[in-house]
Amino acid sequence: MDRTEVGMENGRGKRVVVVGAGIVGASLAYHLVGKGANVTLVEAEDIASGVTGSSFAWINTSHPEPDPIAQLRGSAIKEYRRLETQLSGLKIRWTGALSYSVMSSGALPVSGNQASANLVSRSQILDLEPNLKNPPQSALYAAEEGALDAVAVSHALIAGAEACGAKILTQTRVLGFVTQNAKVTGVKTTIGIIDADIVVLAAGTGTTKLTDMLEVPLPIEASPAIFIRYKSQPNLVHTLISSPEMEVRQSSDGALIAAEDYLDDAMENQPAAIALRTAKTIQNELHGVVSIDPEWACVGLRPMPADGIPVIGYLPKVGGVYVCAMHPGITLAAVVGRLASEEIIDDKASSALCPCRPDRFFQA
Ligand SMILES: Cc1cc2nc3c(=O)[nH]c(=O)nc-3n(C[C@H](O)[C@H](O)[C@H](O)COP(=O)(O)OP(=O)(O)OC[C@H]3O[C@@H](n4cnc5c(N)ncnc54)[C@H](O)[C@@H]3O)c2cc1C
Repeated sequence: MDRTEVGMENGRGKRVVVVGAGIVGASLAYHLVGKGANVTLVEAEDIASGVTGSSFAWINTSHPEPDPIAQLRGSAIKEYRRLETQLSGLKIRWTGALSYSVMSSGALPVSGNQASANLVSRSQILDLEPNLKNPPQSALYAAEEGALDAVAVSHALIAGAEACGAKILTQTRVLGFVTQNAKVTGVKTTIGIIDADIVVLAAGTGTTKLTDMLEVPLPIEASPAIFIRYKSQPNLVHTLISSPEMEVRQSSDGALIAAEDYLDDAMENQPAAIALRTAKTIQNELHGVVSIDPEWACVGLRPMPADGIPVIGYLPKVGGVYVCAMHPGITLAAVVGRLASEEIIDDKASSALCPCRPDRFFQA
C-alpha cells in the first residue's frame, strides 16, 4: 500500500472542495474536516453573504404531516446542542416558540407534527409573552426550539473548521469544473484550478447554475422572503412569536427580527415599505413598544427545491459531486453537516437522507 492509499483509508485525507460559505457550507466544512478530510471552502463573496445573512433563523422542527424529512427535522435540536458543546463561539437562544393561527371566531393552534410542542392556554401565553395585546385562546408552545444569529454561527463553524486545518477562500468564485471520464476532478475558480476527490455544492440559489454546467439540471427555485431588523428596546418579546399578524423574535443584542412574505415588486411592497407596515403591526400587537426603527430590510432568496424536499446526495450522471441545497437550511444545517460528512468520508449512507436524493428528479 503506498502513502496515498494509507492516507485515503476510510476516506480520511480525501480532498473535498465545498462550494459556498453559507450556514450549510460552513457546517459541511466543519464536519468534513472533523472526519479527517482535506477541506477547501470556496466562497464567491464573504462568509454568510448569501441568504444565510438575511434569515429569520428559527430552528423550527414542526411541520404539517406528512413530512418526508421528519427524521431530519426531529434531530435538528439535538445536533445544534452537540455543536454548542464543541464550539464555544456557537450560541443559540433557546427561547421556545409560540405559534398560533386565527380562525374567524377565535384562535386555534397551528396544526402539525410537533412532538415536543404543548397546547398552552391564554393565561399561559400571557405568562410567556406579557406584552401581547391580543393573546389567542390557545397556542402551541415548543419549549425546546430556539433561534440563532446565522451569520455568527456560520463564522463559528468556519473558525472551527479552519482551526482543524480547512482552507477558507473567500472572494473566490467557482466558474466551472474539471472533468475526466465523466467524473469531476476539480473546480475552475477565479484564482485557478483546485483539484478535488469530491466537490460538495452548498451554493444556495447558485447551485443550479453549477449543476447546469454539468448538464444535470436541478429544479431549485429562488424563493423570496422579506427579512427585517429593527432597533428597539429590550424585553419586548421573550420567546419567538409566529402568528398570522407577525413572525417576530428578539436577538441577544435587543434588536427585533421579523420575517414577512414577499408579495411583489410594486413600490408599496418594497422591503422598506413592508418594514414600516410591519412596525405598525408590531405596535398594534405588543404593549410598550416605545421605539421601533427599521435598521435593515431586504429580500432573501431561499433555495427551494420544486417538491419542497431538500436535495442532498451525489449527483447522478457525473461522478464526484455531492449536492446540499435546502430549505429550511438553518434548521437542518447541523444535522445535514454531520450526516453528509459521514456519507462522503465514511461511505455510511444515511436513511434519514433517503427522501432527499437528487436522482428523484431523473427517474423515468
Ligand atoms: C426572510 C427569511 C427567513 C428565513 N427563515 C428561516 C427560518 O426561520 N428557519 C430556517 O431554517 N430557514 C429560514 N430561512 C431559509 C434559510 O435562511 C436558508 O435555507 C439557508 O440560509 C440556506 O443556507 P445556504 O448555506 O444553503 O445558502 P446561502 O446562505 O445562500 O449560501 C450559499 C453561498 O454560496 C455562494 N456561492 C454561490 N455560487 C457560488 C459559486 N459559483 N462559487 C462560490 N460560491 C458561490 C454564495 O455567495 C453564498 O454565500 C429563511 C430565509 C429568509 C430569506
